[in-house]
Amino acid sequence: MSGSPAVLMRLVASAFNVAEKAGAIVRKVLHSGELGIVEKTGANDLQTLADRLAQQSICASLSRRFPKITIIGEEELPDEEIKEDLIENGHSEEILQKTCPAEYSGLKEEELVVWVDPLDGTKEYTEGLLDNVTVLIGIAYGGRAIAGVINQPFYNYQLGAGADLGRTMWGMLGLGSFGFKLQEVPGDRRIVTTTRSHSNKVVTDCVDAMEPHEVIRVGGAGNKIIQLVEGKASAYVFASPGCKKWDTCAPEAILHAVGGKLTDMHGNAYCYNADVKHMNSAGVLATLRNHEYYVNRVPQSVLQALKSD
Ligand code: AMP
Ligand code: MG
Ligand code: MG
Repeated sequence: MSGSPAVLMRLVASAFNVAEKAGAIVRKVLHSGELGIVEKTGANDLQTLADRLAQQSICASLSRRFPKITIIGEEELPDEEIKEDLIENGHSEEILQKTCPAEYSGLKEEELVVWVDPLDGTKEYTEGLLDNVTVLIGIAYGGRAIAGVINQPFYNYQLGAGADLGRTMWGMLGLGSFGFKLQEVPGDRRIVTTTRSHSNKVVTDCVDAMEPHEVIRVGGAGNKIIQLVEGKASAYVFASPGCKKWDTCAPEAILHAVGGKLTDMHGNAYCYNADVKHMNSAGVLATLRNHEYYVNRVPQSVLQALKSD
């Protein structure tokens, strides 16, 4: 390879280390015991000190290195000086060594949009369901989620001291996804994963309409996509507004890079341009395989209630 690496590869290589730093912040705040919980729209929509510090760390670190990129973070924070110890300057040399897919090799900083969920699964974080928690950094170009990094700060935490705590996965369209072993749910079993803390009758009716053999209720959009690519679930079904672009951008890129699909409940793609509305109003339907099966079973009443953008 000649010349300097493509901007997209440099961005993902940096985002990898930035997500690891954010994961370390998320662990540190938990261990401090001072979560600093604030209710945003209500008791099921929380923000903690970890959400705030992780977002500051991610956004400041990336914008220093890539000043022309649009970065959109979940948390509304005051515009204040970021402490130097929150800045991550490192990058993954392994990612930087990979060849950028030709169609993305000429992208410019100003054409990229980064969607940041500094802590996905905050409700579960405050309840000690620690493996539900992820840090999500999604990268979009031309409205599409093209690359993403997911850090799972408490991966392996049940194994106790001595186990390697935390892991980072990443993926890019045209290149594949890394940091985990791709597995499928065996046979024709339909295992549906859905929300545990944002449910209602429409959500559960829609899950039932999929005729699942098994239903898993866990927190986090990132966590549920990990279940899909690791063979724990066949479909993520959430027939409700509530998930936002920062919840789905990174997971969608990693899922799509291994041949899966994330859409709204109608089967339509979400757009990740900088000016789109943040809410994924028409729900989330994601699968590794057989997307059509699930789209075709969404009840008419759900389709009427959740209009595509
Ligand atoms: P869940 O599957 O409930 O963990 O939701 C996945 C992501 O979407 C999390 O970041 C939630 O905070 C967010 N989310 C889903 N539904 C809602 C809601 N009704 N209000 C606020 N956030 C929501
Ligand atoms: Mg989230
Ligand atoms: Mg969040």
